Amino acid sequence: MRTAGDNQQPNGDIAVRLESITKVYGDHVAVDNISLDIEAGEFLSLLGPSGCGKTTTLRMIAGFEHPDSGSIELGGRNVVGVPPHKREVNTVFQQYALFPHLSVAENVAFGLQQRKTPRAEIAERVSEALDMVQMRKFADRKPTMLSGGQQQRVAVARALVNRPAVLLLDEPLGALDRKLREEMQLELKLLQRRLGTTFVFVTHDQAEALSMSDRIAIMRAGNIEQLGTSQDIYDRPASAYVAAFVGQQNFFDGTLDSATEMTSGLVRLAASQPSAAGDLKPGVEVRGAVRPEFVRFARSTGEPAAVNTLEASVSGFAHQGETMQYLFQANDGSTVLARQPVAARGDLELGDRVRLSWEPEHVRIFAADPDLEKVRGQIDANLSTQTIAAMGTGR
Ligand code: ADP
Ligand code: MG
Repeated sequence: MRTAGDNQQPNGDIAVRLESITKVYGDHVAVDNISLDIEAGEFLSLLGPSGCGKTTTLRMIAGFEHPDSGSIELGGRNVVGVPPHKREVNTVFQQYALFPHLSVAENVAFGLQQRKTPRAEIAERVSEALDMVQMRKFADRKPTMLSGGQQQRVAVARALVNRPAVLLLDEPLGALDRKLREEMQLELKLLQRRLGTTFVFVTHDQAEALSMSDRIAIMRAGNIEQLGTSQDIYDRPASAYVAAFVGQQNFFDGTLDSATEMTSGLVRLAASQPSAAGDLKPGVEVRGAVRPEFVRFARSTGEPAAVNTLEASVSGFAHQGETMQYLFQANDGSTVLARQPVAARGDLELGDRVRLSWEPEHVRIFAADPDLEKVRGQIDANLSTQTIAAMGTGR
């Protein structure tokens, strides 16, 4: 068994191999033929909206559920039919459910006691696990005397005390408020690096996945839509779905004119690369995307418009710490979001006429995706609702 402190980095060994796994509940396919290799020492996140199959995938790795077809290997060993407690895997859940009548140390020791581990070894491993999450000084407290973040640390210690090769975490920070959640993200990431344990982390929070993961698997309706590093996924989303789910985007629906150009209302968009779906034929419906940080703006001069420009007026501002967000109402009725460092702030006022522009290298063109509307409620919260609600009418 691997011990804590091996400090394994991703090294090409496969810790978890999912091969064509499918899980069906009644007539609903929860996980649809997923294949995925997770490297030893890797921090891999499963990211996607509620109901896309993240928990089901995790529960199959843990052994709480069994795939209807396909195989799962842990450390090179086929574990189909192997019960959860015989897998070198432990899970941390969002509802961490510590025993209220037991102390912190007793909670962490509980599983080892059930397995009749010798007392001296239990004591040693419990202090080691509590040290890992900086909770040793609270060893004698009852969980009710701890904050939510501290309780979740105990839950992590309770899983790590078993020295699992793989730690599965199912939205472990979901119950914490935002500031604490961000602190815990950093802490968990540092812990993972220090221990070298493989982490499989489930979240529906894209910012959380981007900041913590070595790689992210973006899930959609039981499938993996894209697998890559944070940068791959942010800079080179493979589909409109991924582009919408990760970060913020301005979308332009329209028709493809050529491999690198599309028309949407009053805008002609030119991309520097052939469209993400390079096999698209001119005339088909597509969706162009430009991230807010790449939208530039200047007062309109009234000169004729070229590609990648749009006439608009200023309809909102919002301070976001170091950046300033601008909301524009374009002449064709669309709404465009832009972001700039506060330091670069100009003297624009509400209602001012501006010309928006962006470089071809920052335009992505995707196949139109009618099914996307179904998951839009969650995705668009990214852009419209939050942003527009937060927009002030002044500075
Ligand atoms: P996620 O964790 O991404 O929110 P889940 O893996 O929990 O998604 O669920 C995927 C789909 O499978 C959902 O539609 C859910 O309703 C369904 N599902 C999950 N577990 C069960 C179950 N035990 N019985 C029936 N349907 C289930
Ligand atoms: Mg879930």
